[in-house]
Amino acid sequence: MDTTLRMYEVSLRDGLQNEDQVVPTATKVALAERLVQAGFRDIEFGSFVSPRHVPQMADTDELFQRLPERDRVRYWALVPNSRGLDRALDAGVGHIATFLSASETHNLKNVNRTIRESLADLRRVVQTASAQGMRVRSYISTVFGCPYEGEIPVERTLELAHELLQAGAHEIALGDTTGMATPAQVQHILRRLEAGGIDLDLVACHFHDTRGTAVANAWAAHGVGIRSFDGSIGGIGGCPYAPGASGNASTEDLLHTFAAQGENTGIDLDQTCEAAAFMERALGRALPGRFLQYWKARDRGAARDQQAESDSQTASA
Ligand code: ZN
Repeated sequence: MDTTLRMYEVSLRDGLQNEDQVVPTATKVALAERLVQAGFRDIEFGSFVSPRHVPQMADTDELFQRLPERDRVRYWALVPNSRGLDRALDAGVGHIATFLSASETHNLKNVNRTIRESLADLRRVVQTASAQGMRVRSYISTVFGCPYEGEIPVERTLELAHELLQAGAHEIALGDTTGMATPAQVQHILRRLEAGGIDLDLVACHFHDTRGTAVANAWAAHGVGIRSFDGSIGGIGGCPYAPGASGNASTEDLLHTFAAQGENTGIDLDQTCEAAAFMERALGRALPGRFLQYWKARDRGAARDQQAESDSQTASA
């Protein structure tokens, strides 16, 4: 059966980038193996940013060489600028993601450039990458609100989306970087973008669960036609340049919600939970994803029942 909904997994990048500890490459490879096994075909695995700024992503080149099933899986790497693109080309990465912010202040704090300066460089990056046969995703962050500027005019997002698509981006990912979006607002913004000429088939939504609305927002976006969603296993992730930002939308929570709606993602929910539980053990702490915690409690409950049954059998024997 063909998939009807695309899940884009960001735990290896957005998730681990925000961990204090630097996760060993071997652990990342083991996680990628579990994700591929579970059925994920779009995985953002690293970032060609400066290793000095983001040591968690310093192994992106090496990690790519060790990733499983590179012919079957679209492995995406974040590319901040022309220098990042050169590294991606050298590594042989075929899928890149660029980023800029719809908020001037957030963009300045994030990459130390104005939106216009970012866009001028990104236009070159996107054009070169497309010409080299790469697939390009372009993030626009803080679309649904900025911690510094508050509400962001939808016209700015619309203009940036058009510019990036014209430069050759194959898809636009709308980022709710600090989890400020609410469902009605999500629908309002997406409808405005569609009315402004953006094809929603080219749009993915990237929500964070900072205020507990990530699944509701995804559901709202689905209601107006979005069929591509970013998530991270266990809801791991955040943004180091956005105070108070926490946790991506949990992949399992999204899978559970959309499967109940009859959507086919091609991804196994139990195996996804197992991958998330593996990451909990690797990080040595519980992850915030709600479905994951339910799944673990259910497992413990089943083990308890089994134990009780064998105890009573022993007692009656
Ligand atoms: Zn994010």
